[in-house]
Amino acid sequence: MTTHQYDVAVVGAGTSGCYAAATVADAGYDVVVVERKDAEEAGHIACGDALKGASDFPEAIPKSQLEPAFTNTDVDHGRFEIPQEDTVLEIPVPGELAVIDRWEYGRCLIEGADEAGAEFHYDTVVQDVLQDDTGEVTGFEAIRKGDPVTYEADIVIDGAGALSLLQDKADFEDATFDTNVRYSQFCSAYREVVEVEDPVVWDDALVFKPTDRAAGYLWYFPRTDTEINVGLGFQMNEEPMELVDDLKADLENRAEFEGAKVKDKLGAALPTRRPYDSAVAPGYMAVGDAAAHVNPTTGGGIAGAAYAGQYAAEQAIEAIEDDRTDDESVLWEYNVNVMDHFGARYAALDVYNIFVTAQEVDDLMGLLASLPATNLAEALYSGSTNVGLGLKLKTAIESFGHWGLIYDLYRTKSLADRLLSHYEDYPDDPSGFAAWKRERDAIMDDIYETTGAEPKY
Ligand SMILES: Cc1cc2nc3c(=O)[nH]c(=O)nc-3n(C[C@H](O)[C@H](O)[C@H](O)COP(=O)(O)OP(=O)(O)OC[C@H]3O[C@@H](n4cnc5c(N)ncnc54)[C@H](O)[C@@H]3O)c2cc1C
Repeated sequence: MTTHQYDVAVVGAGTSGCYAAATVADAGYDVVVVERKDAEEAGHIACGDALKGASDFPEAIPKSQLEPAFTNTDVDHGRFEIPQEDTVLEIPVPGELAVIDRWEYGRCLIEGADEAGAEFHYDTVVQDVLQDDTGEVTGFEAIRKGDPVTYEADIVIDGAGALSLLQDKADFEDATFDTNVRYSQFCSAYREVVEVEDPVVWDDALVFKPTDRAAGYLWYFPRTDTEINVGLGFQMNEEPMELVDDLKADLENRAEFEGAKVKDKLGAALPTRRPYDSAVAPGYMAVGDAAAHVNPTTGGGIAGAAYAGQYAAEQAIEAIEDDRTDDESVLWEYNVNVMDHFGARYAALDVYNIFVTAQEVDDLMGLLASLPATNLAEALYSGSTNVGLGLKLKTAIESFGHWGLIYDLYRTKSLADRLLSHYEDYPDDPSGFAAWKRERDAIMDDIYETTGAEPKY
């Protein structure tokens, strides 16, 4: 059997894997990216193609390298269609937005990591994780172009996406690594890229529409004014939806899509839960979807994956330089950086996700239609929202009939704020982790009690 040796071995040539590999290679270390797809198909990933924070990428693969894939930089707001209330809400989205050609973006990423000096092994499917008798991950086994092959590395970075096989194979019983992961914390999503005959009028907006379920939405994201990424998803703790048929039914009712041609179809699962409590184990770090670094209310995961890749790589380098890759406390800073940058916010946003799963879709849509748009935007992107007195009065008048739900939402917001502030105190090292989790679980108990939602953790 062939054995390869590297300082760092990354699984997955997605956003997280490419940023991790480019960062490691930039620092002069040997790094391989192992990808199950072939060189042509690599980078072709099921995605809505919407990029929030399009102005901001880690330096290892700069924005200028990715820009050729930005097909629409005119999008500047969300357009929420609420047929139940015969309403359309135009909601500003803070920060820079773009819609991209996802496959082209995937190729640009790989090119960026390749130019930095990372090696790519395509057609290579990881099948098992190697651990020594102390539990440290020392590499993995794969099938490369039909032949078994072993990879040994000081650090394995798992960028294998949602429901990563590596985590099923590894034994993390004695590690801090989060193993409380179940399918019900994921969303099943499907998208098509569709060419329409005439330009759409909403080519400057990300269009959202509720599905028949509370915990799901349909999207129409304009790559150009005639090429639209259309898709939908639902939380997997609900009865399965017929994603392909439901999308088809919606498109048939929209005049803009008459005579439209489908150019591409893909589906996948994505984590719609809080980030992993800890994404490190001796010799091992998980990044991007493999550690739930996704905004659980929007499903946006590209930005989190890019930064997680960078942070994990930086910590891997430090551990290699200290010769302490087996020590979780050396890798821990990676967890801290993730929580500090976006993890705390995503954990708080998950509270709204949990709230929504316990509500009827019509009640929620009625409420949504009556709330001030700017505050919704703030809530959606910051994990918290403030409602000033003037807006409170406006909301109170317009939302008559939804006051019970508003009160529940208000109580949920207080709990989301409490959770956010707890995540802001994420421990600096593993010694405070058990106590931090106990307190977090107590807040979650209150959240489930208040929302009446089924516990998902
Ligand atoms: C339908 C859908 C729509 C989405 N829309 C958006 C959106 O509009 N905007 C946004 O920001 N985010 C969106 N997301 C989320 C976003 O796509 C992910 O968060 C992001 O791609 C995560 O990057 P990643 O590198 O962690 O994982 P991925 O991009 O999933 O990459 C994982 C890679 O690992 C490889 N791999 C997996 N297992 C193995 C194995 N055993 N051996 C070797 N290789 C392996 C895979 O082939 C893949 O190339 C969407 C997700 C879905 C499913």
